[in-house]
Amino acid sequence: MSLKGKVALVTGSTSGIGLGIAHALAAQGADIMMNGFGDAAAIERLRQETAARFGVRVAYSGADISKPAEIEAMVAATQQQLGALDILVNNAGIQFVAPIEAFPPEQWDRVIAINLSGVFHATRAAIPGMKQRGWGRIINIASAHGLVASAQKVAYVAAKHGVVGMTKVAAVELAGSGITANAICPGWVLTPLVEKQLQDRAQREGMTVEAVRHDFLAEKQPLVEFTTPEQIGALAAFLCSDAAATITGAPLSIDGGWVAQ
Ligand code: NAD
Repeated sequence: MSLKGKVALVTGSTSGIGLGIAHALAAQGADIMMNGFGDAAAIERLRQETAARFGVRVAYSGADISKPAEIEAMVAATQQQLGALDILVNNAGIQFVAPIEAFPPEQWDRVIAINLSGVFHATRAAIPGMKQRGWGRIINIASAHGLVASAQKVAYVAAKHGVVGMTKVAAVELAGSGITANAICPGWVLTPLVEKQLQDRAQREGMTVEAVRHDFLAEKQPLVEFTTPEQIGALAAFLCSDAAATITGAPLSIDGGWVAQ
């Protein structure tokens, strides 16, 4: 497989799963528009390292995915700086944990804005260019929580179920245009987003992170192992290949058996 000549925009690619996907697509030759928050010097180092390691062009946009106008500007900047936008990976996401009756409305708005509305705004802006070129891949990073619920994650679960629904609509609308839309639904991946949940639990239970790690995984996943960002990157790269040309509208689980139960 080669993605040489293709351009991929990966939202939230300064960390975790997004960075794993950016590297996997760059390894196949795709030029990359990175996005996400973090220390400016560290991001610039990451941009240069990625470009040098994979021999591709790498640009960066600091767009805030909770702001529609910034998303539109990021899509335009991708097309201007890298020549096109062929692969859109909607990955940026946040978590907030509280029972419904104590869930702060402003946190609900924030999670929905980034995890759900941001996916819509980026997809809306990216489709015309993909249609013009007759080829495109939309890959939405949903979650096992796009298919089943957990307590205390009302905004996240609602947003991720919404992302799975939006993916299906995009697949139906875009059928025959050379563009596919799919959702990847990971189980636990050890990234900063999950490390915080592990640390909170260890603190709550007065235990070490190592001690709570097994129960944390085993409660949800028959296969008591974290999926890695590299494995998710490999699945995203596969979805960009010709072998995956007829996979569309699919929520693809990579979750250690989480939703099989
Ligand atoms: P992470 O915290 O490591 O990375 C999140 C990325 O999103 C970072 O680059 C961050 O800067 C960026 N981001 C956050 N808010 C942003 C905003 N407003 N604008 C632009 N960028 C923003 O988290 P992760 O675990 O790598 O999560 C990536 C995606 O995978 C999320 O959508 C998450 O819901 C999903 N996911 C994660 C897991 C897991 O176990 N880690 C499981 C299932 C799904």
